[in-house]
Amino acid sequence: MVQQLKHYIGGEWIDSEGGGLLPVVNPATCELLAHVPDGTRADVDRAVKAANAAFDEWRSTPVLSRAQYMYRFKALLEDRFEELTRIVVEENGKTRDEARGEVRRGIESVDYAMHIPSLMRGYTLEDVSSGIDETAERQPLGVFAAITPFNFPFMVPLWFLPTAITCGNTYVVKPSPQTPISMQLTYELLDELGLPEGVVNLVHGGKEASMAVMEHPDIVGVSFVGSSPVAKLVYETCAKSGKRVQAQGGAKNYIVVMPDADLTASVVNIMGSAFGCAGQRCLAGSVVVAVGDVYEPLRDELIKRASSLRVGYGLDETTQMGTVISGQARERIEKMIAQGVQEGAQIALDGRSAKVSGFEEGSFVAPTILDGVTEDMTVARDEIFGPVLAIMHAPDFDSAVKLVNASKYGNAASLFTSSGKYARDFKYRVNAGNIGINVGVAAATASFPFGGKKDSFFGDLHGQGPDAIEFFTDRKVVIERWF
Ligand code: NAD
Repeated sequence: MVQQLKHYIGGEWIDSEGGGLLPVVNPATCELLAHVPDGTRADVDRAVKAANAAFDEWRSTPVLSRAQYMYRFKALLEDRFEELTRIVVEENGKTRDEARGEVRRGIESVDYAMHIPSLMRGYTLEDVSSGIDETAERQPLGVFAAITPFNFPFMVPLWFLPTAITCGNTYVVKPSPQTPISMQLTYELLDELGLPEGVVNLVHGGKEASMAVMEHPDIVGVSFVGSSPVAKLVYETCAKSGKRVQAQGGAKNYIVVMPDADLTASVVNIMGSAFGCAGQRCLAGSVVVAVGDVYEPLRDELIKRASSLRVGYGLDETTQMGTVISGQARERIEKMIAQGVQEGAQIALDGRSAKVSGFEEGSFVAPTILDGVTEDMTVARDEIFGPVLAIMHAPDFDSAVKLVNASKYGNAASLFTSSGKYARDFKYRVNAGNIGINVGVAAATASFPFGGKKDSFFGDLHGQGPDAIEFFTDRKVVIERWF
């Protein structure tokens, strides 16, 4: 059945005011799953008004009570865990296990917010002058919003919403119009919590709704996750109206493999990093730099393993890699592969024109490996966001680090080695926000801050962890003397 999605504003499910409808399509089966409202400025304004109206009462709701909502939210999410994972597979195309990982990570952000009574405490110093005490109090600021991408449709909004609201703010989520259904169910569960009306709001849509969020004068802060050009736009636009902003962008993650690395373990990890979620992770490894004589055995092993990955529909539990998000994405990825070949890379494994029996129209790109890639090639520099791994060869550790640091992105980088010295040097010198040592996907857990560097992040406070508490609260200093 084709669902008709709605906005959730002020505790009610409503249609768009003046906006049309966009199709939501299963990228493997091409089945029409839903129609989603293409939200308008009027819709965003309505949501912000509802969130603003709810703020005073919500911020004075005891912090212990605010935290209690998260216990019930978690229980509801756990009850619907498998349903959520099915929706993520259907709307996004990843495998069932990848969707389970995503939903688990999302719930971990809810767990984090349960601890808000300890996390958002201020601090006090007695006798800063004689008989005078000074306190820094943390206060919520008002209405915050998130604009989120298609690739982790459930998890990414939860990096922000639970912490924001338990800190006492009210919230608006604008999910990706390509994958809005998991948020629809999430908001049905939020609705069951009995939060005061207007504390959490959902406005669907694309560019118009995003722009309205960035420009709305009553939104105090925006968390964005998506591609770098849009992240930069969000950063600049939000700054114009004095908003706080954390804008997480795209990536080109390098993986360096030293000759002393455990080859088998490295290959297993690189496979997960490059081809997990069909390469559509901001932490996906997309360039392997083989150092010295590990090059040949590493390349051969990667090709052998990647060519045996079972590509298919994510709801089939035997599938090891699902689809990319759309036919348009497949076309873009295949064009970038062709450009790589044109620029001189050798195609060691060609995943173009992949066909899966029973899903002939699905947006499949099979694992692809480009060998002999050099620094100047587009496939070494630009984000592909698909299951494409480039292999480069460096003579030594220093040259490999140079290659990693030459990237305009700085989301993540990994090193495979058995040397503590190289490991220490790598984490010290590499200019990326997330470093993996013998770890292919260096994903920060919920109590650690998550964000990149250079074109991968615009802002200062990262998502999650202590940075999120800073982002969602202000420090007010009170200096007291009593006569
Ligand atoms: P995207 O930038 O196309 O879209 C992200 C959000 O911005 C969506 O809600 C979309 O509706 C909105 N949007 C898109 N174009 C816009 C425009 N011109 N003006 C205003 N709003 C616009 O990204 P995507 O394709 O959904 O997601 C993939 C990208 O996200 C990749 O680049 C990936 O690396 C990145 N990503 C980064 C992180 C991170 O933590 N750094 C995490 C996940 C994904």
